[in-house]
Amino acid sequence: MSSSNPSSRPLIGVFGGTFDPVHQGHLACARYVLEHCALDQLQFMPCHMPPHRASPGVSAQQRATMVELAIADEPAMLLQPLELNRDSASYTADSLSLLKQSMPASTLAFVIGMDSLCYFTSWYHWQRILELSHLIVCQRPGYSRMDGDAPALLKQYAAAPSALRQYTHGKIIELNNPNFSPSATAIREALAQNQQNISELAPSVLNYIQQHRLYQS
Ligand code: ATP
Repeated sequence: MSSSNPSSRPLIGVFGGTFDPVHQGHLACARYVLEHCALDQLQFMPCHMPPHRASPGVSAQQRATMVELAIADEPAMLLQPLELNRDSASYTADSLSLLKQSMPASTLAFVIGMDSLCYFTSWYHWQRILELSHLIVCQRPGYSRMDGDAPALLKQYAAAPSALRQYTHGKIIELNNPNFSPSATAIREALAQNQQNISELAPSVLNYIQQHRLYQS
């Protein structure tokens, strides 16, 4: 155990991603994580995207605004704009390091889907991420704990949700959430075909997308 009395430290989840756009799969995951890991707060941290990877006509600020709309009625969720405000792509390890400096008394838990755990050891300084935070892994349809990096990482670092408060960092919590099927890629494709009713988006987000004619070809 690394520091004194971690059980009394605030436990802050950080949900990183492109959120291009944020959808009901992200929100269902976020709610499940908050409840099953008893987090004090969950921060959505949209990443910066270089212009050649960004969706045409959709700015970083607009992705962030959609996150804010989606979580408006969720008191324990908030937007963490750290990566958006930088002018280049940032690595998760560096962002978590900055967050840790700004919240030294908190325990951090970075939230990812199983798709991300499967290639986690190719992330920049992935060991550093586990020195700064825990990892909370949500199941995602189409991805298995038997694939890629997942088996070895789970063998070494897996722990029960109670470990989030017993240790300050370094544990991987695999959740047994139900399948949340939405994918941002499929949603962008549906929007490009001018589909009007997309139930995988929060109504306020769909409204914003339609008002600003985002993702339309
Ligand atoms: P795409 O569908 O285009 O791959 P995405 O929704 O996976 O996009 P991100 O916005 O970067 O892309 O996702 C942020 C995080 O949310 C990732 O860790 C991803 O694994 C997780 N995630 C996204 N959708 C789901 C889902 N339906 N179920 C569980 N986890 C999800």
